[in-house]
Amino acid sequence: MGHRDDWVRCPRCGAPLVHGEELHCPACGLVIYDNPAPTASALVLRDGRLMLTRRARPPQEGMWDLPGGFVDPLELPEDAAVRELREESGFSVTRNQVGPARWRRRASFIHRRTRHLQDEVVVTVRLDGMRLAIDESHRLDYEREDYFGFRWWPVAKVVRSRDRFYPGRLPELLTAFLAGEDIDEPFELWS
Ligand SMILES: [Zn+2]
Repeated sequence: MGHRDDWVRCPRCGAPLVHGEELHCPACGLVIYDNPAPTASALVLRDGRLMLTRRARPPQEGMWDLPGGFVDPLELPEDAAVRELREESGFSVTRNQVGPARWRRRASFIHRRTRHLQDEVVVTVRLDGMRLAIDESHRLDYEREDYFGFRWWPVAKVVRSRDRFYPGRLPELLTAFLAGEDIDEPFELWS
């Protein structure tokens, strides 16, 4: 069962987990699924600003997210971030604008009444000095429904913000990550 044996206590309420057919918490009802889906997200930076995308629908309405999505089989996370960024924003970036996969995290959340578990990689994409027009025509239909726009935030404003972001600790971890630190987040129970 590999990594599932490491799960001893519920990340939500702290009660002991039960390893049955599925890993679950009898105290609060949390179910932890195996086989996390790999995703890659991009911290797109241009001249001191970070591009964030805003979710349009409840329950995450008004929350700020990073562009990104699932890593295809045989794809590297850095390549997935480039592809997703092109699909979501129309930006064509080259691999030498993409930083290494130094921020790794596992997160779980409920979306459309289903619990998801993801192994997430966050990379930087540096577009300093580039003139860009965001083109959202390549988005998939479900992405069109879930998102309604991008905004360039000054990095310092993200760090100070009280808004809700995904990843949840983005304001707290951003400065260290951009300074070159590796980030390893064991688990975020987003919802
Ligand atoms: Zn629990």
